[in-house]
Amino acid sequence: MVTVDPADQQRLLEVQALDTRLDQVQHTRATLPEAARAAELETLLRSLRDDVVLLRTKVSDLDREVARAENDVQAVRTRAERDRARLEAGQGSAKDLVGLQHELESLARRQSDLEDAELEVMERREEQAGLLEATEARLARTESEHDEAVAARDVRLAELASQEEALRDDRKAAATGLPEAMTRIYERLRDRLGSGAAPLVEGRCDGCRMPLAPSDLHALTSRPADELLRCPECERILVRDAGTAA
Ligand SMILES: [Zn+2]
Repeated sequence: MVTVDPADQQRLLEVQALDTRLDQVQHTRATLPEAARAAELETLLRSLRDDVVLLRTKVSDLDREVARAENDVQAVRTRAERDRARLEAGQGSAKDLVGLQHELESLARRQSDLEDAELEVMERREEQAGLLEATEARLARTESEHDEAVAARDVRLAELASQEEALRDDRKAAATGLPEAMTRIYERLRDRLGSGAAPLVEGRCDGCRMPLAPSDLHALTSRPADELLRCPECERILVRDAGTAA
């Protein structure tokens, strides 16, 4: 049997109330919507940054493809100009000139095909460049949203840290000088049940909320005031107020 001054038993309830509030602060910190929002935006930022890198690579690849297509077109044009010059100069045999005519016709077809191909590459390039621009704009917007979310999260974390510090100071003051035999039992129960002490309120344990059987209640309340009681249902330390203590 552990005996504890009733005033110290009351003080244990204060410690329990402060521990409950500390648990709440920790729960609030672990489930902070501002932190979830910041993390969500962080993930989005990473994916947008990857997209931008990918699109920049695509656009520069297509720039090279456009340049290559333009070179191909230019080579055919140069060849056709040279053939036309030779044709106009009328040099060579009639057979050569007929050959040049044929070549010019096939060069014209080839040039038209190459120009179509170039146009197609240019269109693809414009499409990807447009996508890149939109993604960069979205990235910039997301960056500022992320900055705001991080700032909001940090404000909440700072508030919680100062609440926690104040509660820890209060808890230390409330727990100072409590008998070790009682605090050991309390801590063990808290580890196991989440809370270690509860007041006896209107015939029920405020920890497990179980109404006590009249015989248990009578047995408990007739104990000396300095006897540390335990709830017969949940084993928590049961603290009587001055009125219910014998
Ligand atoms: Zn109980």
